[in-house]
Amino acid sequence: MTTKQEQASGVAIMGGTFDPIHNGHLRTAVEILDRFNFNELRLIPCFQPVHKGLPSITAKQRLAMVEMAISSDPRLTVDAREIVREGPSYSIDTLKEVRAIIGPDEPLIMVLGMDSFLSIPTWANWQELIHYAHILVVSRPGWEPDLISELNAFCENYRAASSHELQCAPSGFIWLETLPSLEISSSMIRALCKKQESIAYLLPEPVQTYIIDNQLYQDNVTL
Ligand code: ATP
Ligand code: MG
Repeated sequence: MTTKQEQASGVAIMGGTFDPIHNGHLRTAVEILDRFNFNELRLIPCFQPVHKGLPSITAKQRLAMVEMAISSDPRLTVDAREIVREGPSYSIDTLKEVRAIIGPDEPLIMVLGMDSFLSIPTWANWQELIHYAHILVVSRPGWEPDLISELNAFCENYRAASSHELQCAPSGFIWLETLPSLEISSSMIRALCKKQESIAYLLPEPVQTYIIDNQLYQDNVTL
């Protein structure tokens, strides 16, 4: 084992609808693991998104695609707790559950794209999130860190002075990390499928094959 691996600490989680998972999610996840040396990054597909319409396909199908997408990197894991829990997938419930499992001292890091982060003031009990985890915000093409005032004041109280703080405390800090941009979104992929255009190279090949074989995203049926 290398020194880098010996010093790994922290559990990162990345929630999403993953409708479908794509290379924007996956490159973000591996960049974060390489830069921060967390022990693992868990992808947590939601059951029912709270702030957007219902997913276009079943939770089982979204989960299957996440599982096939992560097989090439052992640091990536999938955590199906929101799907098992059913109902609206509130992040605060998930953070409390994961915190209870990993114990009070282990760093827990919630990774959010800038678009998700900017919507935080609309989330259930959003001011409590930081008591259970750090928030690691990653840049996303088209979304500038131009914080609305309520969120700005909140960030002032919690902004980490260095990224190192995310591994020195179990929770309580916000850090913004700029990553190389991949302008890919699930909605873009769904739109391409609907037009019967190629989705190659936007997502892992097995996921692409699964979408094509199961004729997903070809019409507007909501399940
Ligand atoms: P949709 O287009 O349906 O909204 P999405 O591509 O935004 O889907 P989500 O499953 O909603 O994907 O996103 C899950 C998380 O991943 C969010 O925190 C989001 O900000 C982040 N994310 C998604 N795509 C990217 C990307 N290309 N670069 C960085 N972060 C991303
Ligand atoms: Mg989105």
